[in-house]
Amino acid sequence: MSSPAVVWDPSLLKYDLGGQHPFNPVRLDLTVRLATELGVLDGVDLLVPTAAGDEELLRVHVPEYLAAVREAPNVGWDVGHGLGTDDNPVFPDMHDATALVVGSTLLAARKIADGEVRRAVNIAGGLHHAMRDHASGFCIYNDCAIAISWLLDHGFDRIAYVDTDVHHGDGVQAAFYDDPRVLTVSMHQHPFTLWPGTGYSAEIGKGKAAGSAVNIPLPPHTRDPGWLRAFDAVVPAVLQEFQPQLLVTQCGVDSHEEDPMADMSLSVDGHRTIYSTLRDLAERYANGRWLAVGGGGYQLIRVVPRSWTHLMATVLDRDVPPETPLPPGWVSTVQGAAPAADLPAAMTDGKDTAFKRWGDDADDPVDIAIRDTRRAIFPLHGLDPDDPRD
Ligand SMILES: [Zn+2]
Repeated sequence: MSSPAVVWDPSLLKYDLGGQHPFNPVRLDLTVRLATELGVLDGVDLLVPTAAGDEELLRVHVPEYLAAVREAPNVGWDVGHGLGTDDNPVFPDMHDATALVVGSTLLAARKIADGEVRRAVNIAGGLHHAMRDHASGFCIYNDCAIAISWLLDHGFDRIAYVDTDVHHGDGVQAAFYDDPRVLTVSMHQHPFTLWPGTGYSAEIGKGKAAGSAVNIPLPPHTRDPGWLRAFDAVVPAVLQEFQPQLLVTQCGVDSHEEDPMADMSLSVDGHRTIYSTLRDLAERYANGRWLAVGGGGYQLIRVVPRSWTHLMATVLDRDVPPETPLPPGWVSTVQGAAPAADLPAAMTDGKDTAFKRWGDDADDPVDIAIRDTRRAIFPLHGLDPDDPRD
């Protein structure tokens, strides 16, 4: 078994929604530069993706939508299917650029399915809002759902998807809402307070799949300890019961307190702890198989590069100590391009992520979310929602 797979090629920077759009590919470029400067990628062969073909895109999307995406740059702004909006503007070669993102996550999935690696990471992936017949939330094609669908046809029939982006993982949930082979778990800011307005704890899956959609909506301004307390109170128990063969995680970092698109209050230290927790869960409950993709994250300079460097380091078992200073080469690159940028000094925000486990009767606002989700989901998995040992 070789070392984990890292998918990256600068051609992935072509997924560029243009202008002042917040989904700016510079965040990926700065992440790879930072990881490289820190030695995280030393000796790692970066896997170069190719674009996914229609056969794969049609696993999740309908033909009319593919045609609309292909035609959009020629047609103008009024093309329907959620395209040409402020969120999802039409951009040159958008079909090819998005198909490449899908191909990059598929390549990571293929490496795991072929048994070449147990873990793979693709920070360019994570377009979790894209729907069957329309673009949504900066996402054109849903690489996460397409890769999961492909894995279901290549040796896997129990896949757990865990989404830690600040927004609800609605597109992936929708793709498998009635499929008991896929467990989708989403931790996000409460839909009352944040787009897309879904992800209530009562959304549990349909028919035979009841219990296979898990939603943990958290109050705005939740900090690392509260977030981790909620995660710990729900996710490990459900994974233990579900017994996945593979863990797929969408690792959006727009939950950071400096992110301009949302109102959660996590830190880079919280993100780092999330990644090591996901790694532990993959080892314990998913035969060590872990496919990690990126996602949202709009603090392009101060947050995304550090958090996703920690993600890649965690996947590679090359954990970067939080106090590690930012390397001078990276700092001068950023200062050259953005002289006014206020850069952090180290790979930490200096936050303590220690948390109290649920069941201690503490009066924490996230406990309402924990209780609601456990009561909605746990009985469907033979677990006691009110017993902290479950
Ligand atoms: Zn997001």
